[in-house]
Amino acid sequence: MHVNRRDLLVGGGAAALAAFVPASSGLAAKPAMNGVLKLSSQLGVIPGKSLEEKLAKMEQWGFDGVELPADIVGKEKMYEDAIRKTKLKFSAVCFGSMNGDLVSEDASKRGPAAEKLKQVLTSAGELGTTGVIYVPAFNGQTKLTNQEIRQILVDTLPAIGEHAVKVHSRILLEPLNRKEAFFLRQVADAAAIARDCQSPGICVMGDFYHMAIEETSDLGAFISAGPMLHHVHLASRTRVLPGQDDRQFVEGFLGLKWIGYQDYCSFECGVKGNRDEEIPKSMAFLREQWAQAEL
Ligand code: MG
Repeated sequence: MHVNRRDLLVGGGAAALAAFVPASSGLAAKPAMNGVLKLSSQLGVIPGKSLEEKLAKMEQWGFDGVELPADIVGKEKMYEDAIRKTKLKFSAVCFGSMNGDLVSEDASKRGPAAEKLKQVLTSAGELGTTGVIYVPAFNGQTKLTNQEIRQILVDTLPAIGEHAVKVHSRILLEPLNRKEAFFLRQVADAAAIARDCQSPGICVMGDFYHMAIEETSDLGAFISAGPMLHHVHLASRTRVLPGQDDRQFVEGFLGLKWIGYQDYCSFECGVKGNRDEEIPKSMAFLREQWAQAEL
């Protein structure tokens, strides 16, 4: 397709960009622009003395989802009983890295780590979440190189992904910034690993805090993940509530609209000031930024 200067100007670049996205890439060649903003939060961000109190507050404030902590195995009924009293849904499970065991230089640690991951996927599926957030290794957790870690993941994750699909869940690879993890820092890198795993059970997420450090374009990052993106973490540049510093979300939200994102955006951050006042303020700020995200 020939692209002239007028196309670039009239289409704001979108039409021109679409012309260069090969259909075989599986990415959104044309902006879907039908994404939704469903707000969620980790429980630690929300004030309240009990799980019930926190959920009631979240419902009252207009949240859609609740992000679960890592230790859900054996606690499924407790969480189910609590959420049934509300209109909320569970968004994702913030699981972590298991000390980097799945990609440890000590090969004997990898098998048990894979089993543990499968167990939490089963619980995550039961609770109706979009998936289990997994970080391969924080800095210092493995002595292996980038290339070695990647190879282990591409060799190991497909079988775990198969289990994930069976239990209606998925792994969500989370890229972090270089101060926390030298391996896996960009959303597109996570998406390339997920693509190479060739399993619908292996997907990715993006975290606005880490993205502010590592990405050159929030829009580009989310388009790179495309249909593999199934969770987003919300935090400002200084890792407090969105709106509490200069971090902007419009470009990233345009990316979510572009790929037709249907999952949750979830607070993972500190709070400056009174939580009862600041959290609703941040939610309003995000809805405003979402409205501004237009082509
Ligand atoms: Mg995060």
